[in-house]
Amino acid sequence: MISVTLDLTCSVCGFSRFLLPIHQLDDANVCCANCAAYTCKALDLERVLSAVQHKPQTPQPSL
Ligand SMILES: [Zn+2]
Repeated sequence: MISVTLDLTCSVCGFSRFLLPIHQLDDANVCCANCAAYTCKALDLERVLSAVQHKPQTPQPSL
């Protein structure tokens, strides 16, 4: 898990720091780093990860 500050707020405590799962193989969710409440669902997780992963990746060739 990595702890990042996101443009999201926990619906429980209002914290804006979340733990992101590293292993995407797991059925993991984003959870609040403060109260560990699971505030984000899979759809939000996609948006969060896309916002976090800013490192340039080589585009995959479309065969
Ligand atoms: Zn929280």
